[in-house]
Amino acid sequence: MSKPYADREVWFLTGSQDLYGPETLEQVATQSREVAAALDAADAVPVKIVWKPVLKDAASIRRAMLDANADDSVLGVITWMHTFSPAKMWIAGLDALRKPLLHLHTQANVELPWDTIDFDFMNLNQAAHGDREYAYIAARLGVARTTVVGHVSNPAVQQRVGTWVRGAAGWAATHELKLVRFGDNMRNVAVTEGDKTEAELRFGVSVNTYGVNDLVAAVDAVADDAVDALVAQYEDLYDVVPELRRGGERHESLRYAARQEIALESFLTQVGAKAFTTNFEDLGDLRQLPGIAVQRLMAKGYGFGAEGDWKTAVLVRAAKVMGAGLPGGASLMEDYTYDLTPGHEVILGAHMLEVCPSLTATKPRVEIHPLGIGGKEDPVRMVFNADAAEGAVVVSLADMRDRFRLTANVVDVVAPPADLPHLPVARAVWQPRPSLAVSAECWLTAGGAHHTVMSTAAGVEAFEVFADIARVELLVIDEETTRRGFADQVKWNAAYHRLAQGL
Ligand code: MN
Repeated sequence: MSKPYADREVWFLTGSQDLYGPETLEQVATQSREVAAALDAADAVPVKIVWKPVLKDAASIRRAMLDANADDSVLGVITWMHTFSPAKMWIAGLDALRKPLLHLHTQANVELPWDTIDFDFMNLNQAAHGDREYAYIAARLGVARTTVVGHVSNPAVQQRVGTWVRGAAGWAATHELKLVRFGDNMRNVAVTEGDKTEAELRFGVSVNTYGVNDLVAAVDAVADDAVDALVAQYEDLYDVVPELRRGGERHESLRYAARQEIALESFLTQVGAKAFTTNFEDLGDLRQLPGIAVQRLMAKGYGFGAEGDWKTAVLVRAAKVMGAGLPGGASLMEDYTYDLTPGHEVILGAHMLEVCPSLTATKPRVEIHPLGIGGKEDPVRMVFNADAAEGAVVVSLADMRDRFRLTANVVDVVAPPADLPHLPVARAVWQPRPSLAVSAECWLTAGGAHHTVMSTAAGVEAFEVFADIARVELLVIDEETTRRGFADQVKWNAAYHRLAQGL
C-alpha cells in the first residue's frame, strides 16, 4: 500500500560493537534488517523504514547522524541496540543529531527458547541491557526522544512507532512552513499575539505579513473562465442554495468567493506558503471576508487562523500533516457556547465562517448570510455538522512570555441534539474529557486560547511527540485529569521550562 509520507524516510540504526566477531555481527545485521522490514511493512507505520548497516564505533555513529541531519527526506531515526553497544560511542552522534529520535526497545524473538537457550543466544540477544546502556547516555545528554517497548509484530508497538512518525512529520512540516499573514492581528486581542522570531527558532516556521491589497489585486486578476470552472465544481460537490446557483439572484457573490479561492491559492503557491491568516478588520478592498475559500484551502491541507491568529494556523498545518491518510480531519475551531444541562454538558464550537469540511463526510450546504461584523458584503460559506468522533483533540498554542505553551483536551465529538436550522455556520459539538467542568477549569487555569485546532485524525499522542521534539510545554486534559493535579502541573511546569531553557 502507498504510505502517506511516501517521499520521506526514517532510518533504522542498529548498535553493536566489534567485540562479537563476524558471525554474530552477521546475525545482528540479518535480524535488524528483519525488524526494520517488519516496521516498513506495517500499515500503521506511514513512512518508508530504511535499514542502515550495523554501527560499531563512534565515528560511524556520528557520521550516520550527520548524514540523517543533512538529508531533507529523513524525518527521523530509530535506534536499537540488538547487542551491547558501549554508549560512550554514541555521545558524539547523539550530540550531533538534530532530527527526531525514537528508541525502539525490542528484540528479535518473542518467546525465549527455554529448552535450547545457551550462551550464544544470550550473547546475541541482549537488548534488555544493551538498550539500558544506550538509554543512560541519551538521558545523560538530555536527548529528546520517544521510547517504545515491545516486539515489532505487536500492533500496539507498530501503532506507537506510527504515531511517532506522524509527530516527526509534523515537526518537519512546521520547519518547512512559510506562513502568510494578510494584515495584522485583530485589534486588542491578546492571545492571538506572539513572538514570531521565537516561533521560527522553536517550530521553524517563517511568519510574515503581506498587504491585503496585494491579494485584492490577485483577486481582480483571476480569469473569468477559471471562475466558471470553479463555480461549476461548487455546484457539483456541494448542496448550493438556489439563490447562489447559476441564474440565482445572488450568484455573483458565489463567483466572487470562487475568485477569492483561486487568488488565495495562487498567491500562497507563489510565496511557497502552506498556511495563512486573515483579519476581518483589515480586508482592504476585498468585498467579502473569505469563507468558502478558506474552508476549501484548509481541506486541501493549508493551515489557517482567523483574526490574524498565525499560531493556530501553524497548529492546523501541523495537524493536517500528522493526520495524513487517517479518517477524519483538522480545522480551526473556537469554543463558542455551552449547553450546561446537568449530565449532558457539551460545547458548541464554530467560527464566523472558517471551519474545515474535512471534519465531515457529509455534503456541505453552501449558503450566504450577513456577517454582522466588519461592514463588508455578505460572505459565502459551507454549513455542516462535524461528524461524531471519539478521542478527538483540540489544541491551542499560547505565548507565555518566556515560552510557548500547548494546551490539549481530548474530546468526543457528538451529533448535535437538533438540526440547528437557523445557525448559518459550520459547527462541531463535543463532550470534553473528563467533563466540561473539569476540562474548562483546567483550560482556564492553563490560559489556553479560545482558538484551537480540532483534529479528528491525528490524536493527542501525535501532538505529544511534536511537543517533545520541539521542546515545548504541552498540558494535556483527558480522562485522567484532576483539578488539583492539573493545577500543580501548571506550577511545576513553569519552574521546569524556565530551568530547562537555561539562561
Ligand atoms: Mn475567532
